[in-house]
Amino acid sequence: MTRPADYHMHTPLCRHAEGWPVEYAAAARKCGLDEIGISEHAPSQNLNDDWRMTTGDIPEYLERVAAAMEDAARQGGPVVRLGMECDWWPSDRSWLEQLTESAPWDYLIGSVHYISDGWDVDNPKWVGRINETGIRETWELYWKACREAVASGLFDILGHADLVKKFGHRPDGDLCRYYDPVIEALLDTDTALEINTAGWRKVCDEQYPASLFLERAAVAGVPLVISSDAHAPSEVGSDFDRAIVLARNCGFQETCRFTRRQRTTVPLPKVGGGTDLATAAHA
Ligand SMILES: [Zn+2]
Ligand SMILES: [Zn+2]
Repeated sequence: MTRPADYHMHTPLCRHAEGWPVEYAAAARKCGLDEIGISEHAPSQNLNDDWRMTTGDIPEYLERVAAAMEDAARQGGPVVRLGMECDWWPSDRSWLEQLTESAPWDYLIGSVHYISDGWDVDNPKWVGRINETGIRETWELYWKACREAVASGLFDILGHADLVKKFGHRPDGDLCRYYDPVIEALLDTDTALEINTAGWRKVCDEQYPASLFLERAAVAGVPLVISSDAHAPSEVGSDFDRAIVLARNCGFQETCRFTRRQRTTVPLPKVGGGTDLATAAHA
């Protein structure tokens, strides 16, 4: 059966990743993925940082993705899609609308990294700020921004929801108060969610988002993709079997694919190997 498409990978244009699209396609061929998408960090008009491509990089980005599409077509796969990971930042809204129109994107991922001015919450240099601000307050800022990002209606996929836990900070109590408004916005705007396996490679040692979020999203009927967030070709399809088991156990039966921002679905495959379903979902 078809494996989920991996739609989240980055190139050297963002200056913190090391695979070109043609190399990601070759890695996908090796690990049996028949569809991938490249999703470089989009340029921003109002965010000042050094970890995204610039507007001037876009022509090269489009060329490199197109070259990978052609090369992979000659080699029997995978299908390569054109995407971008856009940062949600309220004053960038009209800029993001322009970007949306600027190329034949297959999908756009909307992600929250910035929770206030100059504070990208996943950046190790600001870890101390989480305790200074307070875990609850930090979570409130993060999830409020996530809800706004989704409610903007600009994106096809919400990227790595729950990123705020990256360094292991989680408030006490029922976390549904953070999750549910975002799930509602996903439904209202018909936006998909990703299980992002990079969380398993971080201090939090848990996929983004948490299983409780996933269970509630599955019941609500939110569409799903599974993504590696690869910053190197060796990470393509990383932990996909584990994520497929988790998705099934949380109640999902299919994942989506995107072509020119139109969504279709494919059933989740069965994965073998005698994995303990209960343990995988609640680890
Ligand atoms: Zn990145
Ligand atoms: Zn991201």
